[in-house]
Amino acid sequence: MNPLARAVNGLRSRGECADMHIHTAASIDAINGNSFIDYMEAGEKAGVIPGFLDHFQAEHLAEEDYPFAPANVNGYLESYDRARETGLRSFLGLEVDYYAPTQEEWNQQTVAFMDDHRDQFDYFVGTVHDILGNKITLRDELERLLQQEDFDQVVADYFTILQAGIAARRFDGFAHLDVVYRFNGTGENALLARRDEYLSDPRTWQAMAACAWTGTAIELNLRGFDHPWQTTYPAEPAVTRFLQTFPGAIFFVGSDSHDVGTFERFAPLVRDYCGKLGSPVPDVIAAVDS
Ligand SMILES: [Zn+2]
Ligand SMILES: [Zn+2]
Repeated sequence: MNPLARAVNGLRSRGECADMHIHTAASIDAINGNSFIDYMEAGEKAGVIPGFLDHFQAEHLAEEDYPFAPANVNGYLESYDRARETGLRSFLGLEVDYYAPTQEEWNQQTVAFMDDHRDQFDYFVGTVHDILGNKITLRDELERLLQQEDFDQVVADYFTILQAGIAARRFDGFAHLDVVYRFNGTGENALLARRDEYLSDPRTWQAMAACAWTGTAIELNLRGFDHPWQTTYPAEPAVTRFLQTFPGAIFFVGSDSHDVGTFERFAPLVRDYCGKLGSPVPDVIAAVDS
C-alpha cells in the first residue's frame, strides 16, 4: 500500500480527518499565501489536519526563485521541519504536474525529483493542468486554448494525459480527476454550459477505475463547490456509484485551499466528507465547532 493510502487508512481507523490538498505561499498561484504554521494552527482549532500540497511544476525548475529548484528545495524542507517543531500535526505532500508526451523531458525531470526526495515527503499526488501550454484551471488560459481547439477536443486531450499519468504508476494519489469541467456551469466565472453527461463522463469512471486497479488514492476535491461546476471533483454522483462497484477504492479529501481563510471556510465540509468516506468525526471536534 502506498504512503498516502496508508495515511488515509490510519486517519480513518483513529476517527481523524485531514484536508490533504492545501497550498502555502510556495505555490505560484497563492496570492495571499500563508505559511505552514498558519494552517497548522488553524487546523488544530478546526479539527482538520492539514496536508500540504504545493505545486511542483517541472516547467519552472530553471527559475532562480522557484521553491523546488535544486538550490531552494532544502530551504523549503527546512521551513517545514521548523513548523513541525511546534508539535502541531500535518502531512507534507506535493501536487505534481504530469504532462503530455510532447513534454516528456518535464516528466523525466519530475520522476527524477520524486526519486531524489521520496523520503522527505509523505506523498506525491499527480495532477494534469497543462494542455498545449495552457492551464485548464485558469479561465483566461482555457479561453486561449479554446481558440485553438474546441472544448470536446480539450476534454479528450485532458483525459488522454490523465490516463497516461495514472498508468505511469509514479504517484501515490491523483488530484481532481474531472477538473477539466471547472468552468462549465453557472455564475460569473462560467465559460461553458454544464451538460448532464459531464457528471457521468465514462472517462472519469475509467480514471477512477485505473486508480483503484493501480492502488492509487483518488482525491475527492471539494473546491468545485466554489467553481461554476458546483460539485466535487470527481462529480459526487459518479463517486457514489463508483464506491458501490469499487468499495475498496481509497479516496482522500482535499479543499485545494490557497489561503488559510479558504481552509477554515471549508473545514466543516471537509469533516462532512471525511465522515461520508468512513472517517467518523470525533465528538470533541463538534464541541469546538459550536
Ligand atoms: Zn490542481
Ligand atoms: Zn491544488
